Amino acid sequence: MNFENTKAFAEKLDKEDILKEFRNKFHFPKHTDGSDIIYFCGNSLGLQPKTAKDTTEEVLQAWKNLAVEGHFDGANPWMYYHDALGNKMAKIVGAKPKEVVAMNTLTVNLNLLMVSFYRPTKTRYKIVIEAGAFPSDQYAIKSQINFHGFEVDDALIELFPRKGEDTLRTEDILNTIKENGAEIALIIMGGLNYYTGQAYDMESITKVGHEQGAVVGFDLAHGAGNLPLQLHNWQVDFAVWCTYKYMNSGPGGVGGVFVHENNFEKDLPRFTGWWGYDRATRFLMKDTFVPMEGAQGWQMSNGSIFSMAGLKASLDIFEAAGFDKLQVKAKKLTGFLEFLLSEIKTDLIEIITPKNPEERGSQLSIRVKNSNKTLFDKIRAKGVIGDWREPDVIRIAPVPLYNNFTDVYRFVEILRQLI
Ligand SMILES: *Cc1c(COP(=O)(O)O)cnc(C)c1O
Repeated sequence: MNFENTKAFAEKLDKEDILKEFRNKFHFPKHTDGSDIIYFCGNSLGLQPKTAKDTTEEVLQAWKNLAVEGHFDGANPWMYYHDALGNKMAKIVGAKPKEVVAMNTLTVNLNLLMVSFYRPTKTRYKIVIEAGAFPSDQYAIKSQINFHGFEVDDALIELFPRKGEDTLRTEDILNTIKENGAEIALIIMGGLNYYTGQAYDMESITKVGHEQGAVVGFDLAHGAGNLPLQLHNWQVDFAVWCTYKYMNSGPGGVGGVFVHENNFEKDLPRFTGWWGYDRATRFLMKDTFVPMEGAQGWQMSNGSIFSMAGLKASLDIFEAAGFDKLQVKAKKLTGFLEFLLSEIKTDLIEIITPKNPEERGSQLSIRVKNSNKTLFDKIRAKGVIGDWREPDVIRIAPVPLYNNFTDVYRFVEILRQLI
């Protein structure tokens, strides 16, 4: 697509945008002058859907009016509240409904799923991750290695970019997997790296990982609700994500989990609790564990309904917009941002996110020369919320549900004037 560097062009794209009214379904924070903030931080915390108040109020009312009977009565009984969330998220991540469950939070789920999917032996005990993975993932993975009695230095294989490069080459990832194949128990990468914004070729990584006999999982904190995923068709073994980033569920919102149906019958070891027990007979309160079929069999506790209410509001909006349509807009929006940034003639900033639209989502990571954070602070003072990631990156995430082309234009104008 040919872009033009004018405000009129941005406004024209907004006018033609078939998803433009969805912006009005979200609350924008206000700048000091009373105008809406230009919000590009949906990769960290998605904006509040206006209907989150209604879904939350509904839970309060059911609690007030039905008390314990709210588990089975009312419009959305708590006993089944997570079913609809799992079904809707399954569509977004390319999974069967049975393969997805909303439960706990991300790092908890990562640890729980590794109980089942990291089963090291004396000879096959290594874990492959991308170097510079999100810290929480590194801590979780290292704790699992230690828990099984191995040494991190020996058991962790980190994938580094080539010298002078910022992102990983798929061929290098696949070669590392092939070279270490017989020793790899688990490959667990972020589907989209939070720092560089690079989306990995999950299909190829899964295929080559499986050829080597490894289990393959992904942390989709930055992938779910952002990238077009086909977890089922790609044969990914398991995945975990949070829902407060691109899925707008609110701070600390319930996490999402995918387990491929190929793994249902394997009788994998798992940590159990009563909510993973077969629902039909759960309340007979028997003492031997009978798991629910599918991903729901990994649940431990009864659901955190308030944290699910925000997700319900957001997923209804996703469904109304259509994820395919969102993808089309996402590519255009990020492409427009990239184009406008390239029009600023300076060597002060540099985009480190891949240029290929298939290797990224709704985020560009802008490296600032000399780690100059004052540039970021000045942008913030002008009413733009992005975020700063040490040591030297400003992340800007134009989200197709609620950002528009004029947001992108206004931001780049502010940046251009500051530079
Ligand atoms: C945001 C994020 C987390 C946060 O974990 P929580 O358990 O939800 O606090 C973990 N890993 C990655 C890759 C993330 O992007």
